[in-house]
Amino acid sequence: MSETRRVAIITGAARGIGAATAQRLAQDGHPVAVLDVDEAAVNATAEAVIAQGGQALAVTADVSDAAAVEAAVERVVDKLGAPSILVNNAGITRDNLLFKMSEDDWDAVLTVHLRGSFLMTRAAQRHMVDAGWGRIVNLSSTSALGNRGQANYSAAKAGMQGFTKSLALELGRFGITANCIAPGFISSEMTKATAKRLGVPWEKYEQDRVSAIPVLRAGQTEDIAHAVSFFVDERSGFISGQVLYVAGGPRG
Ligand code: NAP
Repeated sequence: MSETRRVAIITGAARGIGAATAQRLAQDGHPVAVLDVDEAAVNATAEAVIAQGGQALAVTADVSDAAAVEAAVERVVDKLGAPSILVNNAGITRDNLLFKMSEDDWDAVLTVHLRGSFLMTRAAQRHMVDAGWGRIVNLSSTSALGNRGQANYSAAKAGMQGFTKSLALELGRFGITANCIAPGFISSEMTKATAKRLGVPWEKYEQDRVSAIPVLRAGQTEDIAHAVSFFVDERSGFISGQVLYVAGGPRG
């Protein structure tokens, strides 16, 4: 258990990595605000955290909507207390080869990942500055290094790394660290949707991906939650502006 209670906000927490991260940070002793566009599913995440003995608040909001983000953070302050941990995890994919990629595919992905993380961070950081302590963890991806069919997602996930490094430089003096986690292949709704889009049965898709991973297994959402817990830890205050590839090898 963590020694100090810190209020955490996790975006995109209705399922997948976000939901696993909420469970883990709650186990670490932090009250968690779980935020997502999917109201029913994010309520279920909060209930699951509470069922495990944690403290949770479900918040429905679109991270790319500035007014909704401001209202969401204020609700967290009101109901749980000022947030000092933020995990920018909400994400979408709109994969296509460049020549078939629409402007909407491009804008949607850049908007959720980059604009969403910007808005959430801008709203949350003032509370961290006031407290003189904060932890920001942003979700990048091995796709930041380039991935066929993901020009939009790769650009967004590389952008998350630059965004993180600038946050580290600007906010370090206020006791705030900012770090990035770049997952490789993780079994989740997102990767299941990719297999479906490619017309490959999930089992075959997973097997093919696993055969290229040095540790010869798929990543689980808990693997990423564990890395988030490490960055958020009180003892991780000298680690900032870093990108940690959590991919079962040097890259996914
Ligand atoms: P996931 O299962 O699809 O979960 C993402 C969550 O974000 C969903 O609940 C989604 O809601 C929510 N979301 C989407 N747009 C949002 C918005 N505008 N505002 C608020 N919430 C929004 O994905 P995941 O696999 O857990 O991935 C989590 C993060 O890790 C993402 O940033 C992803 O890019 C990154 N990542 C994942 C993998 C992987 O292999 N799974 C690898 C590298 C990086 P809806 O479902 O209702 O849209």
